[in-house]
Amino acid sequence: MKQILVFIIAAMAALAQGRPIVLRTATLYDGKGKTLHNTIIVVEGGKIARIGGPAPANAVTYDLTALTVTPGWIDTHSHLSYHFDNNDRYGARDEPPFQANLHIAENAVATLEAGFTTIQSPGAALDKDLRESTARGILPGPRILTSLQPITNPSWDPDKMRATVRERKQQGADFIKLFASKSIREGGEITLTQEQINAVCGEAKSLGLRTIVHAHSAESAKAVSVAGCTSVEHGAYVTDEVFDLMAKNGTYYDPNIGLVLQNYLENKAKYFGVGNYNEEGFAFMEKGVAITLETFKRALKHKDLKIIYGTDATAGAHGQNYREFIVRVRDGGQEHMQALISATSLSAESLNLGNQVGSIAAGMQADIVGFDGDPLKDAYAAGRAVFVMKGGKVFENEARGSKVGWHPGSKGSW
Ligand SMILES: [Zn+2]
Repeated sequence: MKQILVFIIAAMAALAQGRPIVLRTATLYDGKGKTLHNTIIVVEGGKIARIGGPAPANAVTYDLTALTVTPGWIDTHSHLSYHFDNNDRYGARDEPPFQANLHIAENAVATLEAGFTTIQSPGAALDKDLRESTARGILPGPRILTSLQPITNPSWDPDKMRATVRERKQQGADFIKLFASKSIREGGEITLTQEQINAVCGEAKSLGLRTIVHAHSAESAKAVSVAGCTSVEHGAYVTDEVFDLMAKNGTYYDPNIGLVLQNYLENKAKYFGVGNYNEEGFAFMEKGVAITLETFKRALKHKDLKIIYGTDATAGAHGQNYREFIVRVRDGGQEHMQALISATSLSAESLNLGNQVGSIAAGMQADIVGFDGDPLKDAYAAGRAVFVMKGGKVFENEARGSKVGWHPGSKGSW
């Protein structure tokens, strides 16, 4: 009897795989600014087949009417490989690789469970295997785009830089990551010449690759925009004049105001003593929270500037990627809907994936998230993703939030 039952369950599961899926929704934000009410999403073969119309008779149905439904969110700047080790420390040199890999896998799981179905990692050599692992669909994790190792050496001449771009392409990079300024802990001034930046972004473009560039100072952000690179990452000290230039050139701005610095400060003891994570560095970061917020507020005034959604998540921050949204609307004054569009369709566009992810429409990948609450009315609801589907596969389905990592009581602490 038991064997028969096992057989029947297995047969049903096999049958279910080929069956269409219907998601019943009451409130649905499509990621491009539209709100739909009381409709269904029909998913077939991992993609959205259609919105609305009659439900197919043989469908597997999920009732999401108690939730608020959005496309899967996108983090355009997340370092999944950065983690704390078994001793709760960052950057230990003697960490056994297997332990490291498990922590990294946990970061991928936490990110997906938070409703982030796509991330861009800028970057690490091991991302390639992680990208392929999450794409196999067993280990829960977001879709991953990676630069592999970033280009960081300011002493390389333009030819060496161009050769490195070609090498990354060969190695399987999805895009190029370039450092054009110092870190915020060191003041953020420009480290490359215009010629070097032109060389990297120009060579990448000729190979069909985007280039995202770490640039804090106005001078570095300007050089990045002039060179036709894809985005300015961080940009803590960008001026109005340079924001205008970026808007004119279509250079994306990835501000990272809500998670990275806060997370460093909250986990100071775990980072302290590694590289420039010293007293001086932390003093800079403490000031940085207000500086980056003010810069973001100014950026919002440039209506044509394309502000995408990156957190720069590092060790300790994975799975809290939604905090960027909360800080943006709560402290930065960004309109809720604009912040949601930034985290979905606009970020997808910046990744050249606008026709695959970032919105809920026929033909798109079925990356769909349900929140307990409405993030557009209560920003904190962004931290309560309780249904997560990626590519038509359900990775999380909790009707009511008892999620690890989010506690109503922690609201005020950050
Ligand atoms: Zn980063």
